[in-house]
Amino acid sequence: MKLRSVRGTHDIYGSEIEKYNIIKEVVKRNADLFSYNELETPIFEFTELFSKPLGEQSDVVLKEMYTFKDRNDDLLTLRPEYTTPMIRAAITNNLLNDLPLKLYGLGSMFRRERPQKGRYRQFNQINFEVFGSYDYFVDLELMVLANDILKSLLPNNKFKLNLNSLGTKDNLIKYKTNLSKYFEQKKSQLSEESRNKIDSNPLRILDSKNDDDKEISNTAPTIMEFLSKESILHFDEIKKGLKFYNIHFEENHKLVRGLDYYCGTVFEFKCDNLGAQDTLLGGGRYDGLISSLGGPEIPGIGWAAGIERISMLMELPNNNNAQVHLAITDEKFKPHLQKIIKYMKENQISFYWNYKFNLKKSLSKANSNNISNVIIIGENEFNNDFFTLKHLKSGEQFELKIDKVKNYIDDKS
Ligand code: AMP
Repeated sequence: MKLRSVRGTHDIYGSEIEKYNIIKEVVKRNADLFSYNELETPIFEFTELFSKPLGEQSDVVLKEMYTFKDRNDDLLTLRPEYTTPMIRAAITNNLLNDLPLKLYGLGSMFRRERPQKGRYRQFNQINFEVFGSYDYFVDLELMVLANDILKSLLPNNKFKLNLNSLGTKDNLIKYKTNLSKYFEQKKSQLSEESRNKIDSNPLRILDSKNDDDKEISNTAPTIMEFLSKESILHFDEIKKGLKFYNIHFEENHKLVRGLDYYCGTVFEFKCDNLGAQDTLLGGGRYDGLISSLGGPEIPGIGWAAGIERISMLMELPNNNNAQVHLAITDEKFKPHLQKIIKYMKENQISFYWNYKFNLKKSLSKANSNNISNVIIIGENEFNNDFFTLKHLKSGEQFELKIDKVKNYIDDKS
């Protein structure tokens, strides 16, 4: 049997895991700043949690869910997104008594999509959700938070915030009916995939990648014609707020998002340097979703960002190599090596030893690992109870008693 990983999955190691850990830290720092609490849900749930809310006709439900029967015939699905599990967790753990509920989480999602650069079948997301407020301030806060997180992780990248409002559920129903009529008239010019969505999911035709579809969408009615006064006011306040925070945005009236539960504000952060999969982060309001899952009649809003996509663009700040490379010339001197390891452990100095006894090879390994400080342990060091510290860049070398080692390393760092 040839050993291989499952298509669309990937192992996270080396610089990618370092980036992953930095992302976690930055997310936690920003979440704390805005008083969001972390919540982690299981990676699988009952299938019905996803199938209806996400839309029976959505791509995720139709083609992409990993669903399987448990031994007792329960139908289970690996979570394809985090919003519905968060809501389920809030309801089943009685967390909705004290509103607003502000949550965030990080973890793996699963969608059986066609793998390509930036698109996996198991990928990781950052998620933020707020349950229980209609205030435009929440929409704004979530976008400011998204912007802050992306800015601190990707200081050298430009990303664009695309913004739209889908209005209330009623606005959206009227708009969909109108849109279906419009596309029905143009049916013969649409791609086959879009033709199939005219009745069931006309919004999705608006973000079709097909050139003919795009041209027809350009002259389609826009949601702006259907927004209620309140929705327009809500949208205007958000735009004012974004200007206050100097967050550049573009209104994009074709932005609809993939899942059925969205209404009101929807937004996406995109980045040019990502290729076809250029969306870093997306989110919006889903008023009505919580009650449809059996919770109280309260609104909700949230966003999700792809960790792999952020990671692809991220630069690591500086090398995180060990501070000290250990070189020992013979097995016999191990007790002396142990002494210095104990010392470094106590003084929080990171170190690397390759479990070998060859000075020349050790020095060249330190060089290739870009570690400047080498501690050499040989016969002389062992017999006279000192350590030789060699600084590879300058070529300097010192013989030091153990209690002087920390000062030396601190000076050289
Ligand atoms: P969505 O839940 O589809 O709105 O996705 C939110 C974010 O998750 C996207 O903007 C991407 O950054 C990321 N994402 C979604 N699907 C995938 C995937 N298959 N592979 C990697 N990242 C993904």
